[in-house]
Amino acid sequence: MDVNEMILTIEDLRKDYGSKSVLNGISFQVKRGEIIGYIGANGAGKSTTVKILLGIEGDYTGKITFFGRDISDGDVDYKRKIGYVPEVAEVYDNLTGQEYLTFIGELYGLTYERADYKAKSLMELFGVGEVYHSRIASYSKGMRQKLLIISSLLHNPELLFFDEPINGLDANSVLIFKEILASLAGHGKTVFYSSHIMDVVEKISSRIILLKDGKIAADGTFEELKHHNQEGTLEQIFNQLTGFSNHKELSERFVSIVEEV
Ligand code: ATP
Repeated sequence: MDVNEMILTIEDLRKDYGSKSVLNGISFQVKRGEIIGYIGANGAGKSTTVKILLGIEGDYTGKITFFGRDISDGDVDYKRKIGYVPEVAEVYDNLTGQEYLTFIGELYGLTYERADYKAKSLMELFGVGEVYHSRIASYSKGMRQKLLIISSLLHNPELLFFDEPINGLDANSVLIFKEILASLAGHGKTVFYSSHIMDVVEKISSRIILLKDGKIAADGTFEELKHHNQEGTLEQIFNQLTGFSNHKELSERFVSIVEEV
């Protein structure tokens, strides 16, 4: 595994929605095997970045190179090497887990038998084997989330985008998922992890990129960020870099309005 191989390069990425600039010149490079914690306040532009990278959102300026190829050339083959868990996903509720996962697997070029074997085995290992043949409509939130995680991995992607992937997972499942992430990275997969759960981002990321107002406000390992900002936890670093220090006054004011008659 060549750990110096550039998987993704972004140069001066800019995106406007109408008159609003959402991304104001983002540049960074991601190497094979990195787990990037991509963080920022609500509305900072994280999902917009990921949607552009996945080709869901167009109309941007700047250069994006995946696996050494500029994605603006119209060749979408690079998407075969990508897995994605969106924050909010539409799944076909009327299908069973088996029907959904084999359908996704076949979309990515697996045979039905291979997709079925992989999907069933991964569902079992993730503790949801018993609902493999049940309709997704009957799944709990955590079961749906596990289905989404598995569907993003069936085709053995090189690069993974996870947007709040542990939403709804119980504590044991989070533990398994964190180990899976570390193992994927150890096997040379690259992970782009977007979340607001700072203690998890702090623990799993080999590098953290913090977005503020559509610009990169910090980029480095947790240790580097800690050293630079003289703060103890990623939550504190986040509060400092996003210029947030008045949570006590805000919450008191909030409750006082709740109590107004
Ligand atoms: P969150 O943490 O809340 O998920 P985010 O960092 O992912 O936030 P984005 O969803 O990328 O933020 O949104 C960045 C900005 O772009 C926000 O101000 C949002 O209102 C705006 N925006 C996003 N999508 C659209 C759209 N389709 N049309 C107009 N504005 C949009």
